[in-house]
Amino acid sequence: MPRPTYPRTVPEFNRFSPDEQACLGYLAACRWPDGFRCPRCGYDEAFVLPRRRLWQCKSCAYQVSVTAGTILHRTRTSLLSWFWAA
Ligand SMILES: [Zn+2]
Repeated sequence: MPRPTYPRTVPEFNRFSPDEQACLGYLAACRWPDGFRCPRCGYDEAFVLPRRRLWQCKSCAYQVSVTAGTILHRTRTSLLSWFWAA
């Protein structure tokens, strides 16, 4: 039975497992352990914009970056690279 190929470099890893959404979900769970809460109006539902790493409040359309205030803020590196390095 052949072993699955394991990626050796970070870019390879990112191609191999392009699952940033899982990372974003993890970050969101850290930020809002009890679920999303809009910092402006307190509403508890949001649209997720994974490409922009934003949560947008369904009530007032306020956009929250889940990476704001973390080392991941403004990083152009894939979130997965950070997770992989951690
Ligand atoms: Zn809101």
